[in-house]
Amino acid sequence: MLIDPFGRRIDYLRLSVTDRCNLRCVYCLPAQGVAGSASQDLLSDAEIARLVGIGASLGISKLRITGGEPLARPGIVALLRAIAVIPGLADISLSTNGVLLSKMAEDLRGAGLARVNVSLDTLRPERFPAIARRRGLENVMHGIHTALKVGFSPVKINVVVMNGVNADEIPDFISLTRRLPVHVRFIELMPIGETGFFNSRRWLPLREIQARCGPLEPLSRAKQPVGCGPAVYFKSPAGLGRVGFISALSCNFCGRCNRLRLTANGRLLPCLASARGLNLRDCLRSGASDAKIAELLRRAVAMKPQRHQMAPEGGRVRESFMCSLGG
Ligand code: SAM
Repeated sequence: MLIDPFGRRIDYLRLSVTDRCNLRCVYCLPAQGVAGSASQDLLSDAEIARLVGIGASLGISKLRITGGEPLARPGIVALLRAIAVIPGLADISLSTNGVLLSKMAEDLRGAGLARVNVSLDTLRPERFPAIARRRGLENVMHGIHTALKVGFSPVKINVVVMNGVNADEIPDFISLTRRLPVHVRFIELMPIGETGFFNSRRWLPLREIQARCGPLEPLSRAKQPVGCGPAVYFKSPAGLGRVGFISALSCNFCGRCNRLRLTANGRLLPCLASARGLNLRDCLRSGASDAKIAELLRRAVAMKPQRHQMAPEGGRVRESFMCSLGG
């Protein structure tokens, strides 16, 4: 079992499988994108499966596949198939922007993936390219419908709320939970990366996001959706799905942190906002034993800070982009 210096049990790994993305969301990436890692610098399927197996033997039971855009990694379905049979993993999920989801949903489900989170910041066709700097809303909506049809459960929609950009759509996303059995999670904008997008005018605090939601009913712990991490959930009257809130700044969630992160090129990060990481890839490629790799996982857990160092003002948090960190 992995326990950090603050007594938190670490049983969740967020695994970035690529640092490339087919969108360029304004809060996440610069317009010109960033140079992704060369393919030989990315962890291979075999390396990922080995690491996940070692993690699972230490008590990692929840895994999230993320990126970059994980569905853009060639061979992602085969990788999932290899991961899904690793003993000890009770919950495997994937975060996607949904652009490629409709084509791949059935294969992903067949490979053993149980649930997906789709990032979607607007329901308005004219706004989508302004936020994502690419077209694709129709594909994403089709992807959400297909995900429901092939039986992913739950399907969660992640909305990064930006004042003056999409905050006026909060009621529209609440309405979506009445039309479709999806859980919508509103995420406070975070000061991460070097996009220069984050500022106090665009940042809408949790209490204001909640105030714009209209009446919501609190949910008992037992009714929280599967895999609830930092989100706090409610239900709108007549809602088929839940409404959740994730707030890194207003309501620091670090007290419940249970996670490690692995970047696509094999750096193990103790915290989203930590600048330091351990080079697991070089260790793997130098012929390290499973025991040595397990030791690195334990070291990363021992390095976990009590809380992240993000602040609403006071400059950037770190230099990496979310697509490299596996947000
Ligand atoms: N491509 C996948 C997707 O779109 O879900 C996975 C990677 S993406 C970096 C993961 C999540 O990070 C998305 O929900 C995205 O909206 C969120 N994200 C990226 N930058 C953020 C920021 N500055 N503040 C809040 N959320 C952010």
